[in-house]
Amino acid sequence: MKSMKKLNIILFFLWCILLINLVKVNASPLTSCLSSIKGQTVYPNNKTFPSLILDENLYVNYTPSVLIYAANNQDVQTSINCATKLKMDITARSGGHSYEKYGLGGRNNVMVVDLTNINEITIDSKAKTAKIGAGNRLGVIYDKLSQAGFLIPAGTCPSVGIGGHALGGVNIKLLNHSFSNI
Ligand SMILES: Cc1cc2nc3c(=O)[nH]c(=O)nc-3n(C[C@H](O)[C@H](O)[C@H](O)COP(=O)(O)OP(=O)(O)OC[C@H]3O[C@@H](n4cnc5c(N)ncnc54)[C@H](O)[C@@H]3O)c2cc1C
Repeated sequence: MKSMKKLNIILFFLWCILLINLVKVNASPLTSCLSSIKGQTVYPNNKTFPSLILDENLYVNYTPSVLIYAANNQDVQTSINCATKLKMDITARSGGHSYEKYGLGGRNNVMVVDLTNINEITIDSKAKTAKIGAGNRLGVIYDKLSQAGFLIPAGTCPSVGIGGHALGGVNIKLLNHSFSNI
């Protein structure tokens, strides 16, 4: 009786090992390549996916191959390496306010690196500079900068991301008396 119990336990473990290996074999090249990502990776078959690709322009939408919520710079590097290796298109999303949906790549099947979690803000009051993580939105930036006695003139919408804004946004020039570098 005891030996039967032991045998059952051994069989159970063997079954688990087999199952884990089957899952590994079935993983797509994309999921295996992204397996070392520390942040969350969300694929189209996840039920939360549709809500994560909705943003300001509801008339146009695209389906990315994956949403990668980078936790740090290493995650961004890993994503770029995977995109290069798998010959996939990749794009960055900061606040998701591109009317043309360039934050989703502007077409289907693009790997999207969402920068929401890269959101540190460091202010050097003496040098009048700020280091702002690309996942920050204007509202939070206004708030943090104003506490230190600074501002950037960037418009009225608090949910615009600094990523797209710093690349051009709506072409508002920084005032001379705000930050000298950003
Ligand atoms: C409702 C609404 C209100 C707006 N209000 C204002 C306003 O008050 N003031 C103003 O100046 N502009 C405003 N805009 C325009 C806005 O500045 C631009 O649309 C800007 O590009 C949005 O940036 P985002 O990061 O939010 O968008 P995203 O869609 O995330 O990014 C826009 C583009 O920048 C690229 N990108 C983002 N982050 C990075 C990064 N870190 N590295 C490389 N590429 C990156 C994306 O790939 C994409 O091509 C508004 C737009 C909308 C839709």
